[in-house]
Amino acid sequence: MLLTMEAKDEATRNAKEYVNEIYETVVKRNPHESEFHQAVLEILHSLVPILAKNPIYQKHSILERIVEPERIISFRVPWVDDQGKVQVNRGFRVQFNSAIGPYKGGLRFHPSVNASIIKFLGFEQIYKNALTGQPIGGGKGGSDFDPKGKSDMEIMRFTQSFMTELYRHIGPDIDVPAGDIGVGGREIGYLFGQYKRIRGGNEAGVLTGKGIGYGGSLARTEATGYGTVYFVQEMLQDKGIELEGSTVVVSGSGNVSIYAIEKVQQLGAQVVACSDSNGYIYDKNGINLDTVKRLKEVEGKRIKEYVEAHPHAEYVEGCTGIWSIPCDIALPCATQNEIDEEAAKQLVANGVKAVAEGANMPSTLEAVDVFLSNDVLFGPAKAANAGGVAVSALEMAQNSSRIAWSFEEVDAKLHDIMKNIYQQSVQAAEEYGYAGNLVIGANIAGFKKVADAMIVQGVI
Ligand code: GLU
Repeated sequence: MLLTMEAKDEATRNAKEYVNEIYETVVKRNPHESEFHQAVLEILHSLVPILAKNPIYQKHSILERIVEPERIISFRVPWVDDQGKVQVNRGFRVQFNSAIGPYKGGLRFHPSVNASIIKFLGFEQIYKNALTGQPIGGGKGGSDFDPKGKSDMEIMRFTQSFMTELYRHIGPDIDVPAGDIGVGGREIGYLFGQYKRIRGGNEAGVLTGKGIGYGGSLARTEATGYGTVYFVQEMLQDKGIELEGSTVVVSGSGNVSIYAIEKVQQLGAQVVACSDSNGYIYDKNGINLDTVKRLKEVEGKRIKEYVEAHPHAEYVEGCTGIWSIPCDIALPCATQNEIDEEAAKQLVANGVKAVAEGANMPSTLEAVDVFLSNDVLFGPAKAANAGGVAVSALEMAQNSSRIAWSFEEVDAKLHDIMKNIYQQSVQAAEEYGYAGNLVIGANIAGFKKVADAMIVQGVI
């Protein structure tokens, strides 16, 4: 559906040609970067309707410019492990687009990290951040460092070495990193401490996701997961479907999943499964979130251990099987490409009503097409998971004004932002002739803000 949009007229045919040309250049210039290609392909195709209606974007070569990062930094991260051996990892920061504000986006520490992964994440971040309505540009970074099995001191030494290079490229008004997979409160603490040592001053707004005791925002920890569920509420309400009483499957068991589960449970629905990178648990009585939090947030254990505390639950090795569990709502909150075409078909066959992406690009392009063509309510990542970065921007605002808001205040703002993102996406989809298609709606709404800002700022 997304990839096979019909060329209704001359303008649409031209826009399609423009998009294909840009996509070919991206593939040629960035060989072997399949995740980056995938993210670009999805966005470019969904922009055809706005490009066809507004030739100004092509006239100003906006696509040529927007697919090229403003800056890519790649660096060596040497550190000493507990055995006294020198280890070397690779660090990245992609400063993709600063048209509407300082670069903003998380850091991912995971062995799969490479230029393609960071560029796909950075590219998505541009539009996501624009949708929040906050003044933040798009960036992303990370390392192929694997935090699994590392001691606390190894994490600290690695993180300090990472910041020893990164510090010169960031700043509260330049580029503001935060967490992502493998980077949570502990890592942000070490990163902040090292930045402060090097810079010699307390620039609180240089990082977000900080601890509450040193400039963090209340509700930042919960924001991505809660925000995803607020987005689901909007999608369901529009169709008169109740969240209360429904059955939900949430993949992952990291920060996004845990707080998505918490909010779903608060709203009276039942989460029956969650997972980690080894396998998933199915608990027909409903997941006990205290156990998941203990295992993952406190003890750093595998999700497999859940069945020890709850012997009636089942553990299944491998991750994709989680999508064969019948549910009303599916929230992929683990990682990219975790739902392929087959998994999407399985969800549809089991009667899924809504899917919202808590992770970044968890559905393949083919899976998205399966959802859209079967009238499943589908909340794409850059809309559904924007709550995290939105509250990061609120953290920056609190740091600048030296005032801390209450949990309720931040949560209420987050709720409003998620409603607003939903409305913007619905309206843009309607305006450009694809009513109900939130992929097209979110991409167009986010793109328009960034592209318009780029035009008025000259050739940047
Ligand atoms: N890593 C999160 C994301 O994918 C949050 C980024 C941030 O708070 O800057 O949006």
